[in-house]
This record gives sequence, structure tokens and C-alpha cells, in this order.
Amino acid sequence: MSRFVALLCLPFVHGVNYDYVVVGGGVAGCVVASRLAERHSVLLLNIAGPPPARYNGPVVLTDELIMKTNLTATPGMSAYIHQPGYKPVPHFSTSQTGSSPARFLGGSSVVGLSLFMYDHDMDWAPSWDAKAMQNYFLKMKIQPTYHPNYLHPLTEKFLKVTGSAQVTPLSQRPDGTKITATAAYLHSAPAGLKIMYNVRADRLIIEHGICTGVVVRDTARGVDREIFAGKEVLVTAGYAYSPRLLFLSGIGDANELRAAGIKVVRDLPAVGQHLTAPRFTPISWNTDEPTLSKMMGAPISTGKAVPESFQSAVAEATVHLGKDAIAQFMPLYYAPKSAPMQYSLQGESWPLTTNAYTMLVTMRTAAQGSIKFDKDPNVSPHITHDAMTAEDLKRGEELVDEAKHMGSALPSSGQVEHEQDWSAVYDGRGTCRMGKDPRTSVVDLMLRVHGVKGLRVVDGSVIPQSTPFLAMPEVLALAERAADLIDDVETFAVTEVPFGTPLLSLTHGEESVLGELPVPVGMEGLALPAVCAFAVSCTAVGVLLIWRRPRPAAMDEYCRQA
Ligand SMILES: Cc1cc2nc3c(=O)[nH]c(=O)nc-3n(C[C@H](O)[C@H](O)[C@H](O)COP(=O)(O)OP(=O)(O)OC[C@H]3O[C@@H](n4cnc5c(N)ncnc54)[C@H](O)[C@@H]3O)c2cc1C
Repeated sequence: MSRFVALLCLPFVHGVNYDYVVVGGGVAGCVVASRLAERHSVLLLNIAGPPPARYNGPVVLTDELIMKTNLTATPGMSAYIHQPGYKPVPHFSTSQTGSSPARFLGGSSVVGLSLFMYDHDMDWAPSWDAKAMQNYFLKMKIQPTYHPNYLHPLTEKFLKVTGSAQVTPLSQRPDGTKITATAAYLHSAPAGLKIMYNVRADRLIIEHGICTGVVVRDTARGVDREIFAGKEVLVTAGYAYSPRLLFLSGIGDANELRAAGIKVVRDLPAVGQHLTAPRFTPISWNTDEPTLSKMMGAPISTGKAVPESFQSAVAEATVHLGKDAIAQFMPLYYAPKSAPMQYSLQGESWPLTTNAYTMLVTMRTAAQGSIKFDKDPNVSPHITHDAMTAEDLKRGEELVDEAKHMGSALPSSGQVEHEQDWSAVYDGRGTCRMGKDPRTSVVDLMLRVHGVKGLRVVDGSVIPQSTPFLAMPEVLALAERAADLIDDVETFAVTEVPFGTPLLSLTHGEESVLGELPVPVGMEGLALPAVCAFAVSCTAVGVLLIWRRPRPAAMDEYCRQA
């Protein structure tokens, strides 16, 4: 009873404007915010606004555009990536940061290559298996095509000579443009959705074990503001920044929090750990046929541009090498030790000189990684991918041999000689992974943060397993399902029942169920009259605060109806 009174009071105390506050307007944030807004008032917060219109054009973007408009970034939003063998490309902004996730509304779908592959046998956790998820893969507003608008002539040849190769499924429209999460989910979002951008969420507001809101930094004005949620806060800031927001809010490994000088709210050692990402390595062959690198025009390449090729998704054909690996055909040179982002692929300054095609071998690995955070939100996180295991490296050698055999079947003027390195710099999962045990996971199977009420994480960081694929389709399906779970009835999960509670007391009448469930710290044991008195005084204070606060008018300046 007291728990419910406490929850009822909070909206009055803080002057809540929205049922749900969604923190991070990336792939998952766009989906879950727009789905929930079909029935609730929802505020979506993001670091940056909608992507410039140019992002709705060609699939292949230039580093110039990405760097100027995107990763030129908010302080604290680069991601320093460390891993064996990885050398950033000096000529591009990736020279310091590796490829950070994108910051516009739509998140990394805005800079993605539109590759659309996922593990059709996924089995993440109880009730998160392929069967349970199949309807969500069908429901999501971005769907793959197996017949894209453009294939390079070399890819056509590769498909002919390699019987097991397939055209890579892509999330593209019939006109060859890529479908971003912004376009699919925000363009025609329900009226209940408001979007606030140019804000960086720096801390969750957690009182008595309940998350009630978030503190954001207005990056244009350099001031902080508090935003409150009536029902829940949903963290959707991606694999690097979701665990960071938890950490900055006192949720993480207790020792690390203390060392950073942050008050421990909840000891969850798995925050920022168990990072999983596929590893890839390129093998290339020189060719006389002009590759994508030669078709982009000045100043990227010399010679006339072939605009048709701008629709290429680069990894145009795919061969499955067992369950855990793929080899992809790319009609361009992909230098090792470089950040795999758009034209940094080449690892050469412009105009590009090497004309070669590439087989990119990508595999799942048992190796994990972790992310370290500073207590200052202006300091970017450090991401470390561990070295592959000896077993993985051995399997990797076999895969490279298979790919060499396939790549050699095309006419070429010989292999490009270079050392072989496996890198993982694109994508990540697992840093807030789902599970039952708070010692090894961050959220439960309903995506609720262990031990904190009113707070869920809904994005790629909760996915506990790696695949050889990039994660966008899985993140879309996860977020579609999360919206259903969040909108469902309130459940009384047995994980919340104290050990030793007899079944009869749980199932014998509603009152007894509520009586047995844990209550927020500080409220336990309060007599009903005391709780009521507390509720009345909270309401009075709340009314006073609302009356004093100039917030709603100011807020409208930032908000835009989606
Ligand atoms: C260069 C690149 C290419 C890719 N290509 C493909 C591809 O072809 N196919 C594929 O399947 N996958 C691809 N991916 C991976 C895919 O884009 C990601 O798996 C997916 O976007 C993850 O979704 P998310 O919602 O977890 O995070 P994101 O999409 O990264 O979204 C996170 C959002 O949160 C916002 N944010 C972060 N912190 C804060 C904060 N503190 N306050 C407010 N807002 C915040 C960011 O601005 C961003 O908008 C690619 C990724 C990259 C980086």
C-alpha cells in the first residue's frame, strides 16, 4: 500500500509533464517512443536534431559530410576505441575516436550502410527466442529487400561464380535510398510524441529506489534542467552511452563508482561489461575493373563520377560460413587497421589510388570487452575490445582460407599484400545486458534495471549475445517488443518475491500480494496515517513548486511536435 502512495505522490511533487521520458533518439529510441506515443504522452530526448536532408539520399556518404555535421560533436560524445591491431585513419576524424555511434535523431541508422541481416535462430534469454520475436521482425517499419536497386558489375560476377553467395539484404527503398529510423518512425509519429533535442542526459533522478526523471544539459545554452516522467524513464542511448548514464547516476560496480567519487545507488557490476562485437578482417585483390573507389568523382577519386554507384551498400553479396561467420564481397579496397566507416574504408587519403575488390570475413567471437567512464560527462568513454581467443584465431584462419578461395575465383592482378588483423569498431551489445542475476546482468527480462523502479534500458546494450552481423534489425525488433511489454499490465514477477514467502500469501487475494511485495527504501514500516500525512504534505509542496516554476513556457521553446 505504502509503495503505491509513494508512487502516486511523485507526480505532484515534481510536476510531471509526460508519462514516459525516452533518453536517446537512436534506432531503439525512435521505435519505442513513437509506439508508446500511440497511447501515452511521451518525450524523446536527444543530443542532436533531425539529420540534414542529404542523409535521405545516397547510401554511401562521405566522411566529409559525416564529420562536418555529425561527429563534430557534443563534448563527451566521442568514443575512444582500443583494440589489438586497430589503427585509426590519420586523415579523417576517426584518427582519434574510431567510429562513434551517430548523434542525430535516428542514431546510427543515419550513418549505417543499410545492411539488414540477423540471427534467425536467436535465443537471448527465456522468452526472447526467435519464435517469440518473429512477429516483431514482421511488425517493424523497416523491412529488408533482397533485390536492391544497384549492384556493382564485379558483384554480379562474384554471384555468378560463387554458388553459395547471395545478394545482401538491405533496408532500402525502391529508389535505392536507405531507410533511417527517423524516416520510418518519427516522420509520421503520433501526436502524443514530443521531441527535445540539443540536450545531453547526464544523470537520472532516483529517489527511494524509484527513477522519476533525468537531468539534462542544454548544450546550446550550457545550463542544466530537470525533466520528470509520470510512469517511467526509458534509457535508449546505445551501447556506449546507456551504461554511461547509469554509471553517472550511481548504478554500476560499487568499487568503481566509489573510486570515481560517485555515490552508489545500486551495485550492478555488469554495467559497461560483457561488451560483445563481431570481428572482421579484409582480404583484397587488385583489379582493372573500376571499383566503387574509382566511381565517386573528385576529390575522392580522379575521373568521372558514376552516381548510380552511390546507392551501393558496399558489402553487396554475402556467403554464410556456418552459423558463426560470414564472408562479404565488397567492390572496393578495404584497408586493414582502419576505421570501417564510409570512405575511411580505404585507409588512404583522397584521391584514392588502390583499385581492388575485397572479401570481408566477419565472425562471432567469445572475446568480450568493456567500457570505462569518467565522472565528468564532458569526458568521452573509453571502449576496449579484448583480443580474440586462441580458438577463435584458429577458426579465423580457416575462414580466411575459405574466403581467399572464393575471392580468387574472379579475374584479378593478384592479392594486395598486408598483415591480417581482426577489428571490431562499429557496433556493440551486452553492456547493459539482460538476465536474471544482478551480479552478471543489468536489466531483468522485462528490461527493468535490477533494483530500481521506473527505469528500463531499451537498446542494443541489453542484447546479451553476439552474432556475425551488425545489430540494427535486432534492435528494431527488441524495441518493438519493449513497447508492448511496457504497455502491458503491471506484473508481479516472482523474482520480486522475498525468499520463503508461501504461495498462498501471494495468490490469496490482491491485498495480501501487495502487502508482501518489497516497498521503496524509507517507506517500509510507515503507518498508514503517517503515509497519508506525508502524501498530503508532498502534494502541497508539489503544488507550491509548480506554481513557482516557469518551466512549461520555457520547455515549449525546446519542444517540437513530431
Ligand atoms: C558507421 C556505422 C554503420 C552501421 N551500419 C549498419 C548496417 O549497415 N546495418 C546494421 O544492421 N547496423 C549497422 N550499424 C549498427 C546499428 O546502427 C546499431 O546497431 C544501432 O543503431 C543501435 O541502435 P541503438 O538504439 O542501440 O543506438 P543508436 O542508434 O546509436 O542511438 C543512440 C542515440 O542516443 C543518443 N544519445 C546518446 N547518449 C545520449 C545522452 N546522454 N543524451 C541524449 N541522447 C543521447 C545519440 O545521439 C543517438 O541518437 C552501424 C553502426 C555504425 C556506427
